[in-house]
Amino acid sequence: MDKIFRVDMSKLTTSIEDVPAKWAGLGGRALTSTIVAEEVVPTCHPLGPNNKLVFAPGLLSGTAAANSGRMSCGAKSPLTGTIKESNAGGTSAQQFARMGIKALIIEGLPKDDKWYGLHLTKDGATIVAADDLAGKGNFAVIEALEAKLGKKTGVVTIGPAGEMKMAMANISVKDPDSKIRSHGRGGLGAVMGSKKIKYISIDSEGAPGVTVADPEKFKQAARTFAKALLDHPVSGEGLPTYGTNVLVNILHEAGGLPTRNFTLGQFDGHDKICGETMHDTIVKRGGKPKHGCHAGCIIQCSQVYLNEQGKYVTSGFEYETIWGMGANCCIDNLDDIAEADNIMDDIGVDSIESAVMFGVAMEAGILPFGDGKGVIRLLGEIGKGTALGRILGGGTGHVGKAYGVTRVPVVKNQGIPAYDPRSVKGIGITYATSTMGADHTAGYTIATNILNVGGYVDPLKKDGQVELSRNLQIATAAVDSTGMCIFVAFPALDIPECLPALIDMINARFGINLTGDDVTNLGKSILKIERQFNIEAGFTNKDDRLPEFFNFEPVPPHNVVWDFSDEEIDAFWNF
Ligand code: SF4
Repeated sequence: MDKIFRVDMSKLTTSIEDVPAKWAGLGGRALTSTIVAEEVVPTCHPLGPNNKLVFAPGLLSGTAAANSGRMSCGAKSPLTGTIKESNAGGTSAQQFARMGIKALIIEGLPKDDKWYGLHLTKDGATIVAADDLAGKGNFAVIEALEAKLGKKTGVVTIGPAGEMKMAMANISVKDPDSKIRSHGRGGLGAVMGSKKIKYISIDSEGAPGVTVADPEKFKQAARTFAKALLDHPVSGEGLPTYGTNVLVNILHEAGGLPTRNFTLGQFDGHDKICGETMHDTIVKRGGKPKHGCHAGCIIQCSQVYLNEQGKYVTSGFEYETIWGMGANCCIDNLDDIAEADNIMDDIGVDSIESAVMFGVAMEAGILPFGDGKGVIRLLGEIGKGTALGRILGGGTGHVGKAYGVTRVPVVKNQGIPAYDPRSVKGIGITYATSTMGADHTAGYTIATNILNVGGYVDPLKKDGQVELSRNLQIATAAVDSTGMCIFVAFPALDIPECLPALIDMINARFGINLTGDDVTNLGKSILKIERQFNIEAGFTNKDDRLPEFFNFEPVPPHNVVWDFSDEEIDAFWNF
């Protein structure tokens, strides 16, 4: 029987609860957003006693379904002030699911100034002293916990940025190689830091495992689903060969690669940082060009990047990080970007927010565009919490305000990711309307605007963009509840058997009969629950807007501006 683990840091107590019937059919984002909406006062301070941090594995996590190992983490975000769900790979979702932990809810703040760890077993949660690990980087925390508790121990941890409650702090999750995956966006590491929890260790020894109501039906559906993932050209070929960084050249060609703090749509140094160059560099140095962030991933968009001496530098080296530190900051040295990625993993900051923030910091004159070594030095200041480091660690909007910069690419104070909304207009609608602040994964219109997946909608025209973003945001909210990696969306949009197989797996797992319409309705209801939280927190449709400069600064090479009216954007919510 699945259970809810609840931890009250005010009283330093833990409990196990039955899953309320109303939560039984929910997982991942559907569950974290529902719990946050039901239990968190929308107007509360995100770092105060009334915020809660919720972890929930997806509905299919812990099963043999391919790519189903994503864990959702939710809270009210210190970066955006909105509701937040951020999901990550790594080992924790499968461990939670096998241990029967439907959700872990952490509430309250301790009265003392000590650091704590949470140790989870199938029998419950225990609060332990963790002052000895305070101030340590994420890699050192994983190493120390593995030395003490064994190599199989799952670890969820915050770095110094989370301890200092910086708004761009993330939560790190151990992957199968004892490296790091992240709940990156929205400053959730600061929420964990506010609750003085340095780490969560997970011992899944003796876990009962997940039960599948109809194993034969599940097996057949899982086979069809896996075949679709491998048959699609993006998930079966592009991503495994070049990783997500396959997108640098594609977006450069399309004129949608934000460059020099969103002043250009193409980057002269693109060939030095692109997926093709990264692949060749990795192979030459003996790294791994293809790698999964959790057991059961068959797409394997991740990789292991080594330095010239053959020493590990980073893995999960994503397009968004490489774009952000590369084109957006005009750094054309892949080794410098990899080094920065390693430091961001260790100190625990979101690599997208950091990269967008550095673009603004460069515009402010804190360091010159193209200064990779300067970025590495300043990441050190963030990790140490110097006065400048604390300003930078507050994120893009914070730095823009501190230095009087007007070109500050944020929506709801969250940094805009790797696709220019003027030249890829569908993604602009997603940035504007997402309940999470600017977030490409909330409704990834790049699939249809640029990659011709699920049809084609011209990225430079307004026609069809609102509908495209709406359909994708609804579908994504549902997929984020299954524990599936977002990249299953490519075959789901193009291969007719893929989505029915995904629904069949859910039905076989729980012995239910969901239809496609049920799944769409789930996606709609998640978005509405999240939006209602934001409205009660004080957000209005005036917050669903892109920054003003996109309206009057044309971006080369297409020389286009953001030209949606308020009414056109607001029509997104007509469902
Ligand atoms: S495809 Fe990439 S992000 Fe998705 S599960 Fe595999 S390694 Fe992780």
